[in-house]
Amino acid sequence: MSIPPRQLYYEGKVQPASSGKTFQSIDPATARPLTDVHLASPADVDAAIASAERAFASWSQTPAIVRARILHKAARLLRDRNDEIARVETLDSGKAFSETSVVDVVTGADVLEYYANLVGGGGLNGETVQLRDDAWVYTTKAPLGVCVGIGAWNYPIQIALWKSAPCLAAGNTMVYKASEFTPLHAQTLAEIYTEAGLPAGVFNVVNGAGDVGAYLTTHPGVAKVSFTGQVSTGQKVAGAAAGQMKYVTMELGGKSPLIVCPDADLDTAVDGAMMANFYSTGQVCTNGTRVFVPTALKQAFEDRLLAKMQFVRPGPVFDPATNFGPLSSSIHQRKVLEYIRHGIELDKATLLYGGPGLPKDLPAHLHAGFWVQPTVFTDCTDAMRIVQEEIFGPVMSILTYDTLDEAVARANATPLGLAAGVFTSDLNSAHRIIAKLDAGITWVNSWGESPAEMAVGGWKKSGLGVENGRRGIEAWVRNKSTLVDMSGGVATVFAKL
Ligand code: NDP
Repeated sequence: MSIPPRQLYYEGKVQPASSGKTFQSIDPATARPLTDVHLASPADVDAAIASAERAFASWSQTPAIVRARILHKAARLLRDRNDEIARVETLDSGKAFSETSVVDVVTGADVLEYYANLVGGGGLNGETVQLRDDAWVYTTKAPLGVCVGIGAWNYPIQIALWKSAPCLAAGNTMVYKASEFTPLHAQTLAEIYTEAGLPAGVFNVVNGAGDVGAYLTTHPGVAKVSFTGQVSTGQKVAGAAAGQMKYVTMELGGKSPLIVCPDADLDTAVDGAMMANFYSTGQVCTNGTRVFVPTALKQAFEDRLLAKMQFVRPGPVFDPATNFGPLSSSIHQRKVLEYIRHGIELDKATLLYGGPGLPKDLPAHLHAGFWVQPTVFTDCTDAMRIVQEEIFGPVMSILTYDTLDEAVARANATPLGLAAGVFTSDLNSAHRIIAKLDAGITWVNSWGESPAEMAVGGWKKSGLGVENGRRGIEAWVRNKSTLVDMSGGVATVFAKL
C-alpha cells in the first residue's frame, strides 16, 4: 500500500511545512519507511493557532445543534472509511488489523456521536438555583478558546477523536499534534472533518516531535492543553501550562493492579489477565500488569495461563488470525527488551513464558521489525523494578498474596492510580475491594473496555481530569454564574442609618 506524504493542515486545507523539512513514518512490523511527514516550524504552529483563533469567533457562536450535525456526519464518514483508515493505523502503529479494524476508528467515532448527541440534545446547559422569591442564580457554560491536543502513539486516531470530539462539540477550536511515531491519521481526520462541513480553522494539525509539543504548550494563544503520554512528559506539560494558567487534562501512565480473588472463576480471571497484558501488544495505559493471585491458586492460575498463551498469535499484521503485532518503534522495543532482561538478570523473577528474542515462528521477512515476545514473570515481589515501573509492553508480573486486605494494600502502594480490577464471584466482595482501590478506572470481572459513556482518568500521578462520559465535556467549558436580584434594591451595607 503506497501512502502519500502527510502535510500540515490549517485554514481548512493541507499546507506544506514552511521549513521544507520532513521526517519519516516507519512500519514497525518490517522497519521499512512508509512515507514522509512534513515537520512544523514555530512559524507553522503560529499559523495553525492563528487559524484556530479566527475560527473560534464563529464556531463558538454556532448553535450546538448545528455543531452536532457536522460531528455526526464526520462520524459517518469515519465509519464508511473504517477499513482504509484502520489499514493505515496498522501500518503506522504495528497493531494487528484484526484489532484496528474493529476498535480504533469505531471507538473514536462512538465518542464523536456521543458528544454530538450530548450537545445537540441540550446537554451543555447550565442550571438555575432559586435563592429567594425574588433572586436566583443561573449558570452558563462557555467554550475555552483555542485548545491543543497532544497524543501518544498507542491509539493514534482514537486519541485524536477522544480529544477533538468533546473539544469541538463544546464550541472550541483545536490544534492537534500526534506522536511523531504515528502521525499518519491526523491529516485524514482533518480532511474528514472538512468534508463533514467543519469550517476552516476549527480543527488543525501540526506534525513533529516533543519540541513542537512544547512550543504548543507554552503558546500564549492557547487556552487549554489536553495531553496523553508519559507521566514525566505530562509533568513538563502541566508545569509549562501552569505558568500561563492554561486549563489541562492529563491522561498519563499506569502500573495497574488486577486482583484475582480466591473465589474467582479462574478461566475468566486468566482471560482478563491476558487482555490486561497482551492486547495491543501490551501498549495500553490501563494495563493490569501486576496480577495478584492467592498463593493457594498460583499453580492452577499459571497452568491455565500457560495453556492459553498459544492463543496470543504474533504474525503478519494483516493476517486475520494475528492478534499480536510488533511494538510501535525501535526505541520502544529496546526499552521493553531492557525491562525483560532486567527482570531475568537483576530482579531475578522467574520467567514463565517468553523472554528476550523474537516470537517463535515469526516469518523471516518480519525479523527486522520491532517485535518482542509476550512475556510472563512469576515469583515477583513488590520491590522489583519490573513490578514498579510502567513497561508499556507485553510483560505480565504475577505476585502472590495471602489475604485480600494485604492484596489491596500492596495494589495501592504505587504513586500511580490509573486503573484497577477485581475478579471474583462474590459481588459484595467486588464492590468492597473496588471502593478501597486508588484508581480512576476500575473493572469487575472484565478488563479494558472503555466505552464512550464511561468517564476515564487517572488518580495520583496518572493524571488530571477525565475523558469521555458526561463529565468529559466539562473539561472543555468554563462556567459563568449569574445572580439576578429582582427585589428592586441592591443588598447593601452602605445605606443611611
Ligand atoms: P510521551 O510522553 O513520550 O509523548 C506523548 C506526546 O507528547 C507525543 O506526542 C510527544 O511527542 C509529546 N511530547 C514529548 N515531549 C513533549 C514536551 N516537552 N511538551 C509537549 N509535548 C511533548 O508518551 P508516549 O508517546 O511514549 O506514550 C506512551 C505513554 O502514554 C505511556 O506512559 C502511557 O501510559 C501513556 N498513555 C496514557 C493514556 C491514558 O489515557 N491515561 C492512554 C495512552 C497512553 P513525540 O512522541 O512526537 O516526541
